[in-house]
Amino acid sequence: MTATRVTVPMLDLAAQYAPLMDEIRAKVNEVFETTRFIGGPEVIGLETELAAYVGAAHGVGVSSGTDALLVAMMALDIGVGDEVITTPYTFFATAGCIARLGATCRFVDIDPQTYNIDAARIEAAITERTKAILPVHLFGQCAEMDAINEVAGRRGIPVIEDAAQAIGARDANGRMAGSLGLIGCFSFYPSKNLGAPGDGGFITTSDADLGHRMAIMRNHGMEPAYHHEFLGGNFRLDAIHAAVLRIKLRHLDTWAEARRSNAADYRRLFAAKGLGDLVELPFERPDVHHIYNQFVIRVPGEKRDGLRDHLRAQQIGCDVYYPKPAHLQPCFAHLGQGAGAFPESERASRETIAIPIFGELAAEQKETVVDVIADFLRA
Ligand SMILES: *Cc1c(COP(=O)(O)O)cnc(C)c1O
Repeated sequence: MTATRVTVPMLDLAAQYAPLMDEIRAKVNEVFETTRFIGGPEVIGLETELAAYVGAAHGVGVSSGTDALLVAMMALDIGVGDEVITTPYTFFATAGCIARLGATCRFVDIDPQTYNIDAARIEAAITERTKAILPVHLFGQCAEMDAINEVAGRRGIPVIEDAAQAIGARDANGRMAGSLGLIGCFSFYPSKNLGAPGDGGFITTSDADLGHRMAIMRNHGMEPAYHHEFLGGNFRLDAIHAAVLRIKLRHLDTWAEARRSNAADYRRLFAAKGLGDLVELPFERPDVHHIYNQFVIRVPGEKRDGLRDHLRAQQIGCDVYYPKPAHLQPCFAHLGQGAGAFPESERASRETIAIPIFGELAAEQKETVVDVIADFLRA
């Protein structure tokens, strides 16, 4: 008799949507009855509810997390000749948006424990051209915002949070991602903790002027109709997406708790296998609330790619975030920062791998993931 092993997807959105589908279909039907497909009451409703959830005075729905970053930087007039400080170890959009506006990425290496920008290295990267600091709350844990805000405040530089992976995360001061800097940027990409049925994004701020400016900017900078005081674009959010997101928002904290509970289970399972020397589990900063958009483990040495292939062969979902840091991407070669420029980011790119953490994971699936990893690392 051959034992059949449990398979584990990286993410199971069908399981997440199943209990909500009746409500979602009814709501989508309602949007069709009104035929108000862009903006309108669903988008305004989401903006009000989500800004309140995050603890910011204003919320602006936009077309993607990438566009949230773009609009935030456009609203601060960031462009040619300016520099923005950020991390090279992130999804490409963070650095890509800086460059698309003609500004220059000033990369700062990461803290090897949290994988977030190393706050202690930021000040040395500030120049008279620095127009913003753009930390990323990677994998669902806030960057060290007290330290970042201290430097930024002292030097009079605005902080934009890339909170795409961190909706509902709280920093050590108890405040939520998206309310910690001048502007917060979120993504509703389907694999994020609050995912839309398509692309979408969100911007938060408690600055009334900026909030107004960004709301206009996402619609060609137009106010009133056909009058354009400044340049914007079509960065609007669709009503069907907003309607679905409002339904899902009510479950967001429960889903985050399920992810946190999976993380705790993984810690117990890895400890029980005695894998402490072979795998580094995610480090949680004291007193933060990590929402585990990803559960990323570090496998020191040269074993990461082998582990990835082994997990795939055993039909266990996994992903490498991110195999090549931004400064080593061909499109940033002109910045002249080759291999060795940001050693911790480069090491993380070689050593880390994300394993399934979605809320609906079954106990047996978590055990299988850890068993398969243990088999490989001990072989
Ligand atoms: C997902 C993501 C983005 C971009 O969001 P999209 O909605 O896919 O455009 C930006 N930054 C980070 C860190 C992300 O994870």
